[in-house]
Amino acid sequence: METYDVVVIGAGAAGMMCAIQAGRRGRRVALLEHAGVIGQKIRISGGGRCNFTNRGATPERYVSENPDFCRSALARYTAEDFVELVRAHGIAFHEKTLGQLFCDGSAQQIIDMLIEECRRARVTIALNCQVQTVKKADGFLIKTSAGDYAAESLVIATGGLSLPKTGATHFGYRIAEQFGLRVVPTSAALDAFVFSENDRRRFEELAGVSLPAAVTCHGARFEEGILFTHTGLSGPAALQASLYWQPGRKVSVDLLPSMSTDELRSWLAQKKTDGSGAKVETLLAERLPRRVVDRFCRLHNLTPRSLAQQPAAALESLCRGLKAWTFMPRGTAGYGTAEVTRGGVDTKALSSKTMECHTVPGLYFIGEVVDVTGWLGGYNFQWAWSSGWAAGQAV
Ligand SMILES: Cc1cc2nc3c(=O)[nH]c(=O)nc-3n(C[C@H](O)[C@H](O)[C@H](O)COP(=O)(O)OP(=O)(O)OC[C@H]3O[C@@H](n4cnc5c(N)ncnc54)[C@H](O)[C@@H]3O)c2cc1C
Repeated sequence: METYDVVVIGAGAAGMMCAIQAGRRGRRVALLEHAGVIGQKIRISGGGRCNFTNRGATPERYVSENPDFCRSALARYTAEDFVELVRAHGIAFHEKTLGQLFCDGSAQQIIDMLIEECRRARVTIALNCQVQTVKKADGFLIKTSAGDYAAESLVIATGGLSLPKTGATHFGYRIAEQFGLRVVPTSAALDAFVFSENDRRRFEELAGVSLPAAVTCHGARFEEGILFTHTGLSGPAALQASLYWQPGRKVSVDLLPSMSTDELRSWLAQKKTDGSGAKVETLLAERLPRRVVDRFCRLHNLTPRSLAQQPAAALESLCRGLKAWTFMPRGTAGYGTAEVTRGGVDTKALSSKTMECHTVPGLYFIGEVVDVTGWLGGYNFQWAWSSGWAAGQAV
């Protein structure tokens, strides 16, 4: 039996941050990881460059049944605090867009930094360690394939369900249930929409086309790129909107966010009367990919005639269709491709200051396993760092 002050299960972003903070406070910490390597999601994140935080990481950028829960941790360990750590390790980084910070080199630099900080904080890391059972007596008894551990505090940092090939498991949710905590239903998020069969047939010819657009779902609007795929709609704006999607909710896409519906109407009206005889497809192709123009013109029954000859009703229908194309997704692509899991351990069960369970003293949940999900763009790592830091001060 190995005895520690703190056992952290899951050596991902949140678990490592928590272990480092607790170790720096002089706590004896064991970090248990079932995979053979550390931080697999960090390694593949941000296209291999890790979008490690976002300078605008405010509570409004997160989705949870309790939107205020993340407030305290985000305020106490901010994006700038993490940037300071990155700078201290001499890691070069850049701001891409919208406050998103990426490594200039590779995501491995962030993993190496965290491993080095674990070493300095004297954290014991056990890889290939399968946790078999967790029991609570005075403290916690954790039986694993690598022997038994006893600890006063137990931190669950096993992340969500997305990308099972990176080591994602239900473990954290099962531990929550074992201790009588509610788990907010989980679903794949930051994920591509899958079209209904009808829409798939309608739009499959657009596969591979990308364009700037604004996607709205359940009142949340995102103006970024979209990408038509063979099965649905992807790209950053669609992924962001998926965070607000549930079965039965519609998705609305503005394919021309740079102009209002009235501006589009008057632009076409002015071209209609200027006597140039231009076709509507040719005009719209100045502002939209040609394949999108063709598809939407056919969808709204425009015939290949000059703009002047188009019936007013068809033109109006096209304007509305381009500005508010609405579809009902069949679903999202699923955990195999989703960046995150929405839902998770109910925040009502946890202290927002320490992440400790109200009903099970000594048991903590941090990172993605908790019902706090951020937008695309570095917000999810910031939640992992902030919640890991908060628990690390308390364990
Ligand atoms: C492809 C992809 C790209 C992403 N890019 C970004 C990005 O650029 N920026 C951003 O902010 N977010 C990004 N994310 C989201 C981000 O990776 C996660 O939100 C974040 O890693 C969550 O941190 P975590 O520590 O809670 O969980 P994880 O980082 O998933 O860590 C959980 C750890 O627990 C381990 N584990 C699981 N079950 C067990 C068990 N039973 N026993 C022991 N160990 C276990 C896992 O192997 C893993 O090491 C991306 C996600 C994906 C899938």
